[in-house]
Amino acid sequence: RKPLRSAEGATPAIAQWFAAKAAHPDALLFFRMGDFFEMLFEDAEVAAGALDIALSSRGEHQGEKVALCGVPAHAHEVYLARLIRQGFRVAICDQTETPEEQKRRKAPTIRREVTRVVTPGTVTEEALLEASRPAWLLALAPQATVLGAAWLDVTTGAFATERLAVAELPALLARLEPAEILAPEEFARSPELRPLADRVAHVAIPRDGARRLAEAFAVATLDGFGSFSAEEVSAAAMAVDYVKLTQAGGLPRLSPPVPSGGHGVLQMDGATRRSLEILRSERGDPRHALLSAVDRTVTPAGARELAARLASPLAEAAPIAARHDAVAFLLAAETVRGGLRAALKGAPDMARALARLSLDRFAPRDLGAIREGLARAEAMQAALDDAAGVPPIPALVAAARAALRPAESPRAELQRALADPLPARLEDGGLVAAGYDGELDALRTLRDGAREAIAALQMDLAQAWGVASLKIRHHQQFGFLAEVPSAAGEKLLREAPKQGPQAPVHRQTMANAMRFTCAALADLDRRVAEAGEQASKRERLVAQHLRRLCLSVAGGIAATAAAMAELDVHAAGAELAADGRWCRPEMTERADFAVVAARHPVVEAALARARGPAFVPNDGDLSAGRRLCLLTGPNMAGKSTFLRQNALLVILAQAGLFVPAEAARLGLVDRLFSRVGAADDIAGGRSTFMVEMAETAAILNQATARSLVVLDEVGRGTATWDGLAIAWAVLEALHDRIRCRTIFATHFHELTALAGKLPELTPATMQVREWRGEVVFEHRVGPGAAEKSWGVHVARLAGVPKPVLTRAQEVLKALEARARGLDPLSDELPLFARAAPPPPAETHPALEALAELDADSLSPREAHALIYRLKSLL
Ligand code: ADP
Repeated sequence: RKPLRSAEGATPAIAQWFAAKAAHPDALLFFRMGDFFEMLFEDAEVAAGALDIALSSRGEHQGEKVALCGVPAHAHEVYLARLIRQGFRVAICDQTETPEEQKRRKAPTIRREVTRVVTPGTVTEEALLEASRPAWLLALAPQATVLGAAWLDVTTGAFATERLAVAELPALLARLEPAEILAPEEFARSPELRPLADRVAHVAIPRDGARRLAEAFAVATLDGFGSFSAEEVSAAAMAVDYVKLTQAGGLPRLSPPVPSGGHGVLQMDGATRRSLEILRSERGDPRHALLSAVDRTVTPAGARELAARLASPLAEAAPIAARHDAVAFLLAAETVRGGLRAALKGAPDMARALARLSLDRFAPRDLGAIREGLARAEAMQAALDDAAGVPPIPALVAAARAALRPAESPRAELQRALADPLPARLEDGGLVAAGYDGELDALRTLRDGAREAIAALQMDLAQAWGVASLKIRHHQQFGFLAEVPSAAGEKLLREAPKQGPQAPVHRQTMANAMRFTCAALADLDRRVAEAGEQASKRERLVAQHLRRLCLSVAGGIAATAAAMAELDVHAAGAELAADGRWCRPEMTERADFAVVAARHPVVEAALARARGPAFVPNDGDLSAGRRLCLLTGPNMAGKSTFLRQNALLVILAQAGLFVPAEAARLGLVDRLFSRVGAADDIAGGRSTFMVEMAETAAILNQATARSLVVLDEVGRGTATWDGLAIAWAVLEALHDRIRCRTIFATHFHELTALAGKLPELTPATMQVREWRGEVVFEHRVGPGAAEKSWGVHVARLAGVPKPVLTRAQEVLKALEARARGLDPLSDELPLFARAAPPPPAETHPALEALAELDADSLSPREAHALIYRLKSLL
């Protein structure tokens, strides 16, 4: 970018532009000029390109043409949305006085001020938001190797904090997918954040975070909210300050921050999330992801809650069981579920309406949303009461039921106050129902009475002026005018009396008509305008009263909204299981894993959509004694589907849902690792093999005895012997040292020789049949190892030309013959020199881990996790 010019010699308006730009140098400036928002200088060039609108210029500044582009003010949200989606920040510099006020001040130009800065993480407008996704603003306060993180959603008021190791940041980023990140400038350049640079705003760590935060929540101390580390407090203060800044001082309603350190969540890194396609597919498409395959919610708030649960499943038994109880209850109580879902369907998004009300940036429908939402909540309560006494209501459902009716509900008052239907905009008038406010009713009668008087005057003037077709019309600029045909107008100009209340005064000549006013009409016009103005003023007052009424009980309304979302999720979970093909998983504290006839919900749905063959269910058993499953089979036989399916069961179960299986006993998983599918990092400039090894390293360093690992084709990215050797060593480490539950898919049939040497390893294979020379995939997992390579068959399926296939067969035969002479499975080869135990290590891995440890920086939870890790190293 060129350096900014100075404001020297600028017109008063351009000088205002320079001042606003200096205060918000990182933002594009939407500068209000009458009916338009204009962008000037470089902003204009950037915005014209980004919005694909015409770039022009107007006047000169310091001898240079002023580049200019603009968007109509009434439609600016559409353009704003496009810019925000492209990662821009936009500062809105609006006119903050009326032309009359300016005249009274005798100022050279109208007052303009930045009324807010719109950024990806702080938007509240419906048009700019995705209904079913939270929009997290994440603040990061690093302190050496630890990090305070605070994330909030201005559209719902949700607010949470966590203290974590810097190394855990990528997993947090993958879990939250923040719309915007705040970080100190230096930290923004760290390897974790550099790839997200366009979403990061530079914000310094405040020194007095605790005071600022306490101030924002109007409390003397934060102790009442829970116990926070200093880093969490700093991060939370950064987030709150930033929101204040973007809202020009106003703060939306926020729930007090919740420190999430105490709640165990299932840890998953970014690669695992991508490979499991939880919220969207690897290509970024949400339609082929787990979420869309299992989402039966009927409200956007419910969909957001479900997405949040799938993105961070729990890792503790009790809260998971509580969710399963709720689903089981709603599965059994079919009428209750039906009643709840009927009441929820089409229910408005109260949480987001509340946010817009709290920022005083609301439309009539936001008040309407609270009225309607609370009515729906009461209907839900009634639906739940139908169940009273039948099966005992589980704790989560009972708690949600209680929250459905806020202690002080503004519902009755909104019901009386709001018109039905509501106008689209406050300015349109008609928000308040007749009979609610006496003064407003009186002003409206006056306004409408004057309207009637105008109709009467039209008849009088028609008679007095002798023009039967005279019509009184309202004109934007001139108010009410009497319109007559041109010929009659000419006659009036010549012959009509010049004095008296009904004497015509010429105002406008048009092609076929002329417009006149007269003293009587002007007088009435003034009275209509005055009454109308006073009525709308009064209406705005009433709207503000209603807004404050809602905000005075905002906590209760927010809790009701959350309860509705929660019940939506549970009822949707029950709906999903209603076909009887999903079961409640039995959760245990041991390292169990035994599933019967399980399915991959996304592949199953895709096959059903394509009306293809039915999905073949498969068992999975990683129980003690057979913790490690070594899966072989040709490409296309269903290996990756089976790997992912087992990982997805854990996510679904720990998120609190049922699982697609006949039966499932699952021991709680603390960390889930999945490496299935392409491991390309073209953008990052690392080779497939490098990425694969980095990801494998991450597993070997982080997995514990309570983890589940599903791994596809370790070592495929390099030469055969290299790859085999690495796969071999990784397998041994998982089996001997980490001792986690593992499914390991491989092409290296040689690995099955390990079956006899690793007691917990069971070989399994995707069953394949040959039928009339063709290969048939059964998609069934059976015992044992693949007997044969089917690569050439698959190549034929894929349409590789015949001569190439024939040649490949020949080469294969030759290679197989050679290999028999040099059997890699023979015990003479170094690969199998494992018979003797490894020489005793100088140090033990557990001791190494202890030596590296910084005891002072450990939270109780981390210490707990560490003990598990140390045990796993023994
Ligand atoms: P691999 O990883 O062995 O190459 P995939 O898991 O990608 O194989 O599966 C290939 C295709 O086979 C899938 O796209 C799906 O259509 C089908 N498939 C996989 N598993 C099953 C199953 N259990 N039942 C039915 N079809 C399946």
